[in-house]
Amino acid sequence: MSMFDLKGCVAIVTGGNGGIGLGMARGLATAGADIVVAGRQAAKSEAAAAELARLGVRTAAIEVNVADEASVRSMIDQAVARMGRLDILINNAGINIRKRPEEYKMSEWREVLSINLDGAFYCSHAAQPAMKATGGGKIINIGSMMSIFGAPFATPYAASKGGIVQMTKALATAWAVDNIQVNAVLPGWIDTELTQKAREQVDGLHNNVLRRTPAGRWGEPTDFAGIAVFLSSKASDFVTGAAVAVDGGFSIQG
Ligand code: NDP
Repeated sequence: MSMFDLKGCVAIVTGGNGGIGLGMARGLATAGADIVVAGRQAAKSEAAAAELARLGVRTAAIEVNVADEASVRSMIDQAVARMGRLDILINNAGINIRKRPEEYKMSEWREVLSINLDGAFYCSHAAQPAMKATGGGKIINIGSMMSIFGAPFATPYAASKGGIVQMTKALATAWAVDNIQVNAVLPGWIDTELTQKAREQVDGLHNNVLRRTPAGRWGEPTDFAGIAVFLSSKASDFVTGAAVAVDGGFSIQG
């Protein structure tokens, strides 16, 4: 168990106030990590931080817009000031705007790219000095099946999530020397607020997910606790630049 022990570590989870982010945060807290929940909705983040504190770890809720570089730098500074160090960053905040490509306004294209891709880079860039200063760290970027596949209703989302995988590899090669491992997790279809909206917007989605997923079910936020602990712990110290699908077999189905 000590290989997976995160006691004494501090983790920031962007978008950790719900869905997959909260599922990962619960895993890290169960392994002993102190957690900073970072999101735009302060009340939602406070509630998640209070829930995580009941697992016996220190928690904090910090307001951030990951698409705003100054807001991101302030989040990292506040986290280090309040918690004392920074060991783990999960770049989980993300949105989708579903339309056919010809229907996007350019402002919508930019909004998706700036939250999903720019945001992950801003957070990583701001976090790296604090991690390097204490001898290393772990960065986990959240991609998607759209990191691999295309879909007619997700052009900026697919571009952002494809970029996440390549950014992960580039950062991994650069920061391995600082003992910072950078990996990506690619969720399949997971039951969260994000996909509740998708079910309303994409005809037949629910049945297609069940038919196309070998495990025969939607994923749940709890499915992300284990991978978060593994990629945040000493157990993964020689794993870097990887993109791990957590998808019930969706991406390997022929
Ligand atoms: P949710 O909508 O439940 O969570 C998204 C989170 O991102 C919220 O906590 C939200 O918090 C936060 N967020 C959004 N924009 C910003 C911003 N500008 N700054 C800070 N935080 C922000 O969705 P999921 O849990 O499903 O999604 C989490 C990640 O997983 C996303 O990156 C998504 O793309 C990815 N993913 C999800 C899949 C699924 O099937 N659900 C499949 C593949 C990937 P707040 O509102 O407080 O800002």
